[in-house]
Amino acid sequence: MTARAPFQLVALPALSRATAARDETARKDADRLDQLWKSGQVLLVDRHGRTPVRDAGTALAPRPAQEIAADRPGAAMLLGEEGDTAYWALSTVVDLRPTNAPPGAWGLWGGAVSDTGEEWHDLRGIGALLDDTAAGLFTTAVGLVNWHARARFCAKCGSPVTASAAGWSTTCTGCGREEYPRTDPAVICLVHDGADQVLLARQPIWPEHRYSILAGFVETGESLEACVAREIAEEVGVEVADIHYLGSQPWPFPRSIMIGFTATADPAAPLTPADGEIEHARWVPRAEITQALANGGQTPTLILPGETSIARQMIESWVSAPA
Ligand SMILES: [Zn+2]
Repeated sequence: MTARAPFQLVALPALSRATAARDETARKDADRLDQLWKSGQVLLVDRHGRTPVRDAGTALAPRPAQEIAADRPGAAMLLGEEGDTAYWALSTVVDLRPTNAPPGAWGLWGGAVSDTGEEWHDLRGIGALLDDTAAGLFTTAVGLVNWHARARFCAKCGSPVTASAAGWSTTCTGCGREEYPRTDPAVICLVHDGADQVLLARQPIWPEHRYSILAGFVETGESLEACVAREIAEEVGVEVADIHYLGSQPWPFPRSIMIGFTATADPAAPLTPADGEIEHARWVPRAEITQALANGGQTPTLILPGETSIARQMIESWVSAPA
C-alpha cells in the first residue's frame, strides 16, 4: 500500500459557513436586546425545522420583528448581528402543504408551501444553496429551536424551565439551575486505501443505492480518534490507521456536531457489516465517485450524500486531492 499524503477539505462544509457576530455580551442586557428587536429580522422555524424562503430556496425570507410583535417576546432567540441588523429566531406553528419537488438530494426532506403560496424549506434541503450568512443563521436557529423543544424540564429536579439569555440558556423554575444548549459530538471518517478506493457503506433504512462514509457518536470517556477506530471496526470489521482530522460542521438534527476524519485501511481485509446497522459496505473506485459527482451526485447504482452534509464535502475533497 503506497501512502497518499493526508488530503484536506477543499472548502468549508456548507453549515460551517457563518458570518454573523454572535455578540454574547448582548444576551443578558435587556435594554440592548430590546433595541436589537426594534430593527431586527426574525427567522420563523416550524416544528419540522422549516423556515420561509425565497428565490427557489437560495435565500431566507425573515420577517421584520415589528411585524411580529412591538415588544420583544420572551421566547425570541438572538442569533447574531450582521451589519446593522440583528437576526432572531422564533418557533412557530403553521399549516403547510408538502410540495412535490424537494430540493435536497436526500429526497427524504423537502419543502412545503403555505396558504399564501410562500415556500418553507428545511436546512438539509437548502443548506448548501444559501449564502454564508444565511447558512450560519439558519443552522444556529434550527439548533436553538431543537434544543428548547427537547429541554423543557430541569435535568436535576424535574421542574419546568424558562428560556433566559435571549434563548442561550434555560433557568429552572424549581432550583434555579442554568443549562446551556447541548451538542453531541459524532465522528465521521472517510476511509481510503491509500490509493484510488474509498470505503462506502449503506444503512438498511436508506433509499436503494445510497452510500456514504462511516459515522458514529462519541461515547463518554472516549477520545475522538478512539471513536473513529471503534466505530469503523464495529460497523464493517476493518482496522484503520493514519487517522487525521479534516474539519467539522454543526448538524443540528437534533443536536450533533460532525467531526470529520480520514483514515486508511487495507482493501484486502474482509468487510463484515454490522447486523441491523450496515446493510452493505464496499470499496468504490475513484472513477466511480468522479462519475457520480459529474452527474449531480448520483449514477444508476450509486447515490452520494447530499450537498449539505460534511460527508459530501469530504468525498469531493478526497476525489480532487492530488495523487
Ligand atoms: Zn431544577
